Amino acid sequence: MQDDTDNPWKRAQTQLAHVAKQTQIDPFLVARLSEPDRTIEVSIPMVMDDGTTKVFRGFRVQHTNILGPYKGGLRYHIGVHVDEVKALAFWMTMKNAVVDVPFGGGKGGVVVDPKMLSDTELEKLTREFTRKLVPNIGPMLDVPAPDVNTNSKIMSWIVSEYSKVTGVLSPAVVTGKPITEGGSQGRTEATGFGGSYALLALLTRMGKDPKGMTVAIQGFGNVGSFLARALNDAGMKVVALTDSKGGIYIPDGIPDLDAVQACKESNGVLSGYYCAGSVCDFSYKHTLGGRDITPTEVLELPVDIIVAAALENTFTKENAQRIQASLVLEMANGPTTIEADSIFKQKDIIVVPDILANAGGVAVSYFEWKQNRIGEQWEKDRVLRDLKLLMESAVNRVYETAQKQSVTLRDAAYRVALERLQKTT
Ligand code: NAD
Repeated sequence: MQDDTDNPWKRAQTQLAHVAKQTQIDPFLVARLSEPDRTIEVSIPMVMDDGTTKVFRGFRVQHTNILGPYKGGLRYHIGVHVDEVKALAFWMTMKNAVVDVPFGGGKGGVVVDPKMLSDTELEKLTREFTRKLVPNIGPMLDVPAPDVNTNSKIMSWIVSEYSKVTGVLSPAVVTGKPITEGGSQGRTEATGFGGSYALLALLTRMGKDPKGMTVAIQGFGNVGSFLARALNDAGMKVVALTDSKGGIYIPDGIPDLDAVQACKESNGVLSGYYCAGSVCDFSYKHTLGGRDITPTEVLELPVDIIVAAALENTFTKENAQRIQASLVLEMANGPTTIEADSIFKQKDIIVVPDILANAGGVAVSYFEWKQNRIGEQWEKDRVLRDLKLLMESAVNRVYETAQKQSVTLRDAAYRVALERLQKTT
């Protein structure tokens, strides 16, 4: 397999071809999955607040609906590229299949820096994008969700515009809505908590006690923060956290994650926030035996588990040899390049693959869609209990496949996903 860090779609295709070559998967299915069903490109013309006109480009990639309606987020980012969207849509197909959620794979985005838009412009852009997508989305057809730089407010505009155009109130056209508008309890925590359920289930299968294991986390946003707290509650020692600007490393364990989170929320950065007894101050660095750490250094710390919860292409051929952890938890999508993956294999580093580790988000999105379809609202406890069962069941299936067929967890996850897709075709 060759490294292709620049083009995620080529990487996705390589991953598919790699697993297909080792298995008895129907070549027709492989051919179907090798390209998305369709790529929709739309133009979004808009009059800006200052009276000028701008035209934005938007995409929706529908990879496959073999298992159910296309499903996946919409991102607003200046770097949105059709090949990235295709790869993310493919990974959604695999993710939904591996955790046995009845959705296909989709993804979309608009090439825009949303920070340069006013609230009015953001709403206008979203409503025009929705109008362009109306023929191709719907509760039983394609169900978008939030992704990078999109949120529940944007989802609520999509529901409103879609319902206006179609004449039918349809909350199930998207997930990730505000709770008061049909969103699900537990969606905010879902990906981070789901990752912890998956990791703990895996450690149990491996006969390892999580208590006292050390963890370093790159990325302290939605996913990283809920994951950190869940792992801490399970008795692990979270020793390092970074966001894009840097972070903190305390080899004996960060004593108060809630205090760190509160500081991050009020000040926007993690760096320098050494918290003792809920008071956070740079001067506690020495008392706690800590030191500042960069977003790249954190990956190479001498810990048991390293978590990638920030971006794609975190582990590359440049740094993979220096990773000291014995287990990598991929909470971001596509954080490991193909070459880094081979290096991890040579070094016997266990990788919990993205399509398994971060599937908690889409699993709860499925619960949201289901609640909307049957007119129910579930308590948070029920959502999290069902999420735990679903993640544990997926881990067990992947782990057993990996053991029986002597392959990595990534290859096993792809095998499980492809078998499920094959059974349905
Ligand atoms: P977020 O925007 O809330 O947080 C991202 C974090 O990563 C922030 O702390 C940011 O400062 C940090 N970061 C950005 N660039 C960095 C860098 N170069 N080095 C270190 N840290 C950096 O996003 P999130 O929702 O927590 O998502 C994190 C990852 O998980 C993304 O890759 C996302 O695609 C993936 N993911 C998220 C969900 C979900 O439900 N939120 C579901 C599946 C996958």
